[in-house]
Amino acid sequence: MRFLILQADVTESTSFFDSPWWKFTTTMAKAMLVAMWLALVFWTYKDAKRRITDPMMIGVAVATSLIFPYIGTLFYVILRPPEYLEDVLERDLEIRAREQELVGGANRCPACRTPVRDEFLVCPKCRRELKVACTNCSKPLDPSWKVCPYCANEVTGSKKAAKRVVGEEDELFA
Ligand SMILES: [Zn+2]
Ligand SMILES: [Zn+2]
Repeated sequence: MRFLILQADVTESTSFFDSPWWKFTTTMAKAMLVAMWLALVFWTYKDAKRRITDPMMIGVAVATSLIFPYIGTLFYVILRPPEYLEDVLERDLEIRAREQELVGGANRCPACRTPVRDEFLVCPKCRRELKVACTNCSKPLDPSWKVCPYCANEVTGSKKAAKRVVGEEDELFA
């Protein structure tokens, strides 16, 4: 505040207006400008912390805003990274999750998450039934299918067929 009043006095000595009102008005205007400048510096610091990881770069942004009042902040707004760090992180996680789903999500044993191939009838690790062998052509079929898409054989009593296949596999593994 002492700095402000000093400044106001200097201005006043060169100004045409000597009235205390004019002095008061200019002092208030300068105080507002300085308060605005400091607020912008603080805002730059807060905003930079949410967008930049490097503490050096945050320091540069705040210093620019401090050394060049208003203009420095404007430069920062133009040059700052467009996204918040948390948004970048969230998007990366989302992409990674989707990639993982594409790579192995569909072809994993639903019980033990072991990677399995499309043609597997049972999980090689936990023996869970994954597919049913067609009674006609022995191709692996989804248990919910009603007809074999390979040989058009009606899948009647597929459960029984599945049991048989699993039973054989059990003996094999035993
Ligand atoms: Zn399994
Ligand atoms: Zn078939």
